[in-house]
Amino acid sequence: MRLHWRGYTEHLESVYGKRVYRIGLDAGFSCPNRDENRQGGCVFCDGTGASAMYQRKKESVYTHSGPFDEKISSAPPPATLTIEQRCSSIQTQIAHGRAFLKRRYKTELFSVYFQAWTNTYAEIQTLRALYDAALEEGPFVELIISTRPDCITDEVLDLLESYKSRVSKVWVELGLQSANEDTLERIGRGHDAICYIRSANALHSRGIGVCTHVVVGLPSETSHDFEHTCSLINKANSEAVKIHNLHVCGGTRLQDWYAQGEVSVASLRRHVENTIFLLRHLEKDIVVERLLCETPNHRLVAPRTFLDKSAFLSLLEKTMEERDVWQGDLT
Ligand code: SF4
Repeated sequence: MRLHWRGYTEHLESVYGKRVYRIGLDAGFSCPNRDENRQGGCVFCDGTGASAMYQRKKESVYTHSGPFDEKISSAPPPATLTIEQRCSSIQTQIAHGRAFLKRRYKTELFSVYFQAWTNTYAEIQTLRALYDAALEEGPFVELIISTRPDCITDEVLDLLESYKSRVSKVWVELGLQSANEDTLERIGRGHDAICYIRSANALHSRGIGVCTHVVVGLPSETSHDFEHTCSLINKANSEAVKIHNLHVCGGTRLQDWYAQGEVSVASLRRHVENTIFLLRHLEKDIVVERLLCETPNHRLVAPRTFLDKSAFLSLLEKTMEERDVWQGDLT
């Protein structure tokens, strides 16, 4: 069945002939936006670094739909490890992730994904050692690095470009979240929209793919803001997007705002409408890598009653089919 948006799995199958799965890593980075004098990070950041659940041993006792647990949501900052310990941890995580994904999906093709925290926020020799340690555990189809728009330097570009001969594609995931400057200020992102455009252009000039993260439903945002964000992503020629519904994690400033009634989170119906609106305003060639946050329930304050991912995707597809609307039909 043809989806009404450009799905990630379908895209990978069309490029590589088979399904490809990412092995998500936590390489022990930090984030400049959580360092001192930077107001404690983004309002929605719970300081757990957003790594894959199969890599989070401490949380393996939790089920995806379990109750909220305040303890796990006030995570301490990442421990300071030596570079040798970090490289060794990466190799352990790759072995663990590969075994898990093979068992679950019977797959043979993997990409390596530096997922947690800001993965270009370190001295260049540290970055090189960590990326090399991962690639030595290959072969990998793609190298994917998640970071912030204000952490792309010329040295980082040189280094990332040098890996193009070792994998089929190098990607950088840039957190934009919104193109609205007032919103970026309000949610404490610590960068502006111009910074995103500058980094996306610089990455493209080196032949590196860009995937842009956005959040729908940020405080005070309207459909006009969503449209503006889509238009910036289109203008930046981002090849892919990850769409997140605004959700409230424990231990965040957003949790305080939510408790005081200053923000609300979208109902399932509203998130379906917001997602359709976004998809229709994004260029049809942009690959949609994610449409829903999958934060496990023990870290989640709200929303508490949402469909799981596959049920959400079915509802989205059914609604778009009934209305005969498609990704990109309003660009
Ligand atoms: S950029 Fe990411 S890791 Fe840094 S404060 Fe924001 S959400 Fe947290």
